[in-house]
Amino acid sequence: MRLDKYLADLKIGTRSEIKKMIKQKRITVNQEIVKNGKLQIDETTAQVVVDGEMMQYQTMYYYILNKPQGVLSATNDAVQKTVLDLFSPADYRDDLFPVGRLDKDTTGLLLISNDGELAHQLLSPKKHVAKTYRAEIAGFVTEAEVDKFAAGMTLKDGSELKPAQLVILKHDQAGNKSQIEVTIHEGKYHQIKRMFGAVGMKVETLQRLTMGSLRLPKDLALGKYRPLTSAELQELQ
Ligand code: URA
Repeated sequence: MRLDKYLADLKIGTRSEIKKMIKQKRITVNQEIVKNGKLQIDETTAQVVVDGEMMQYQTMYYYILNKPQGVLSATNDAVQKTVLDLFSPADYRDDLFPVGRLDKDTTGLLLISNDGELAHQLLSPKKHVAKTYRAEIAGFVTEAEVDKFAAGMTLKDGSELKPAQLVILKHDQAGNKSQIEVTIHEGKYHQIKRMFGAVGMKVETLQRLTMGSLRLPKDLALGKYRPLTSAELQELQ
């Protein structure tokens, strides 16, 4: 590929900034000072050095985001703020997308990537990737609901669900609210809200904690994101 495209993909600078850097002899390829951005390089083997720093070509990007309430799990929207609007210009790329969806009022773990193949692996109904959510429920959740979830529920529209693991964390003193964690192995529209709806209860807050091997980091504030570590990525793939 052309060197100037390689450097632009790495967000080293705009085309004209890169041209200037070449003129200033700040870029070498395989130890030779570059004179022209049109130089063809093999992006997998070329040793590209900019201001003394060795470049590593990257085509796939993976971020973990702690989604706040009120933003859409979409790439763009004419009116409403999307999860991609939370990205800084330095990290934003127009091929990034959220891997799966959380409702506008749901918070928590969202993977943002441009890797369509990984997205397919994680979202395919055949793969049964586990997702765990924490929720505040209006209602007194008991072992009866735990058993119903474990048996595989049928929603009001007739959809039959796979067994889900429901854990009761606590009840409030008055006994009309419950905090729970639930793990599901599919991703139907509004699934958790509809599961509680089917047992006559309402989800008041919902936060996703895990997706497959990926876990929401405790120190990642709402609205913030960071690249996956190589260990996180390896485990996920
Ligand atoms: N289930 C829901 O009801 N909402 C979400 O955002 C995710 C799962």
